[in-house]
Amino acid sequence: MSGSTQGKAGFSTRAIHHGYDPYAGHGALNPPLYLSSTYTFPAVGDGSARFAGEQAGYVYSRVGNPTTALLEQRIADLEGGEAALVTASGMGATTSLLWTLLQPGDEVIADKTLYGCTYAYFNHGLTRFGVKITHVDLTEPANLAKAISDRTRLVFFESPANPNMRLVDIAAIAAIARPCDAKVVVDNTYCTPYLQRPLELGADYVVHSATKYLGGHGDLIAGAIVGPAESLNQVRFSGLKDMTGAVLSSQDAFLILRGLKTLALRMDRHCQNARGIAGLLAAHPKVEICHYPGLETFPQHELAERQMAAPGGMIAFELKGGLRAGCRFMNELRLITRAVSLGDAESLAQHPASMTHSVYSPEERAEHLISEGLVRLSAGLEDMDDLLEDVDRALSKA
Ligand code: PLP
Repeated sequence: MSGSTQGKAGFSTRAIHHGYDPYAGHGALNPPLYLSSTYTFPAVGDGSARFAGEQAGYVYSRVGNPTTALLEQRIADLEGGEAALVTASGMGATTSLLWTLLQPGDEVIADKTLYGCTYAYFNHGLTRFGVKITHVDLTEPANLAKAISDRTRLVFFESPANPNMRLVDIAAIAAIARPCDAKVVVDNTYCTPYLQRPLELGADYVVHSATKYLGGHGDLIAGAIVGPAESLNQVRFSGLKDMTGAVLSSQDAFLILRGLKTLALRMDRHCQNARGIAGLLAAHPKVEICHYPGLETFPQHELAERQMAAPGGMIAFELKGGLRAGCRFMNELRLITRAVSLGDAESLAQHPASMTHSVYSPEERAEHLISEGLVRLSAGLEDMDDLLEDVDRALSKA
């Protein structure tokens, strides 16, 4: 896939170089890692000017640090946004943004399927502070048109959604939300800007769990928000500085800058492996259904082709034998690792009914469109033949 957009340098070139000039410093190939919690002022007047926002410069690393600032510039550029803000986790990104944008009395319309902790923050956190949460099936944009009101402050969804891979038409949702003055926030964790750029499709903000593909090596927890510069300034000085304090460490920012250098290469390989595994699953007699946007049988295949540059590295599939088959499949895996998280070099599998959603009743799982035999698989970077052999053998025992 070519990464070049609008005459700019290509995606990988920018992922490797954007915002850093080695000749401006000591010629170090890699950007420096700034380990400093605080910054000095030449004189009191400089301190006052920096606090007043009248002089550029750093004050304290909860507000900004040169290493995290470089990562922010790079992520904003790759997503095609004006600015970015990096955070200590994906949840830190969503909470810092929403605590800044919302007020008591506002309504959030969210899709029916959400990452579990986002769902908990919305329904057990925001609701305690007078924010109304309405869950709507956003895979059908007409449902948003019916539900939206002048109280709706923002619309939030993932595409593809975690864990069942439902897609939401970002441009169609933005076209409905914009005239109603509701902001559209897309969790782009599954795709990364290499595969999907929601801001170009009309969304207002993108959030990420950078723990996943952006970092890419399973060695850190991080998040990011991308959006308009003025608004993100408010998020930085209010939501992040005063409300959540969910600040990313500069060491982790350094590791993500390193991860970004290979993002395009890794995503291509994740997609290639996922395509192969999805093909095997879709044809297997023990599999009820395989949800992968790259399959022609995927109900939203046409939307996937329009909205995503490639179908991604995540697969969900439902085993015919339900809960027991799901548990047996998981226990028979030898190479693919039983773990939550995704986007790492190692292929990871999780079975929501016995892991992330085991505290739900079967009825609650059904309501959230998570079947008992659903398995979520994050295709890693291993050799495809080894992955296929592992999946095939575990299926034979499931
Ligand atoms: N959004 C999605 C789609 C996720 O899968 C996750 C974590 O799994 C998050 C947000 C939260 O990110 P983090 O674990 O970095 O806080």
